[in-house]
Amino acid sequence: MPVLGTLILFWFFRAQVVRPIDETVQRLAAIRQRRPIIRDGRKAWFSDLRQIEQDVDAFAQISEELHVKNEMLLVLSDQDPLTKVGNRRHFDTTLRAGIDIAESSHQNLALLLLDLDHFKRINDGHGHQTGDACLKTVGHALAAFCDAAGFLPARFGGEEFAVIMPRADVAGAVIFAERLRLTIASLKVAVGATGAPVSITASIGVASLRDVEPRSASSLIEAADNALYQAKREGRNIVCCHRMKEGRRVRSAG
Ligand code: GH3
Ligand code: MG
Ligand code: MG
Repeated sequence: MPVLGTLILFWFFRAQVVRPIDETVQRLAAIRQRRPIIRDGRKAWFSDLRQIEQDVDAFAQISEELHVKNEMLLVLSDQDPLTKVGNRRHFDTTLRAGIDIAESSHQNLALLLLDLDHFKRINDGHGHQTGDACLKTVGHALAAFCDAAGFLPARFGGEEFAVIMPRADVAGAVIFAERLRLTIASLKVAVGATGAPVSITASIGVASLRDVEPRSASSLIEAADNALYQAKREGRNIVCCHRMKEGRRVRSAG
């Protein structure tokens, strides 16, 4: 009889004290590792342990909500709110990281700088909202284009965008830029309900890491910017690229 009593006491202690504490520890580990929490539906018999279970459940929910909010903040802090592509901050950090990787893995990296042509005229002629709609449309097209190729699009500032192209050389970058230029030229942005849609064109400057000296973010940006200004000088809606080794800049398309 005393043996049976001891066994029952032992079973009760295991079922109602050890198990709830053990499960609570496992739940806390699951929360820390962001694993799903598996419950068997049993509730602790002691009210103190039941309370701890409920507090852990509430903590799990708050922790998950915080995680989702943090993820959103992380995305928002890197995203341009109007065009939804990366912002300048994201561009700067990604370009620096991309150059480090390119250098350590002996690969090239290309950069496009893209400036919308006569954009002030669009704002002046159709209003700032239409200008904003054009920027959104270009951002959307750029994102779709880059996603498929694994490149990073970003808003460089105002009506200028950039594309970071890991592992791309200048020839591949020019082909990509030319396809992008044609796509942008084919876009039509609606103006109100009745107005004729607005067309946009872009001038694009291309440079690659292997063609600049020193191989740094600032010299790559400067080279792409110079090529972009050459595209502007040569009449806009074209792609120009910087090729330092050849000692000249090449007008690539028009
Ligand atoms: P270019 O072909 O030489 O680049 O001429 P542009 O008119 O595009 O260049 P400019 O630098 O004279 O004007 C750029 C315009 O872009 C002026 C500015 O108001 C407009 N812009 C910059 N950011 C925004 C924006 O967020 N929304 C709108 N709607 N316009 C913007
Ligand atoms: Mg500009
Ligand atoms: Mg412009």
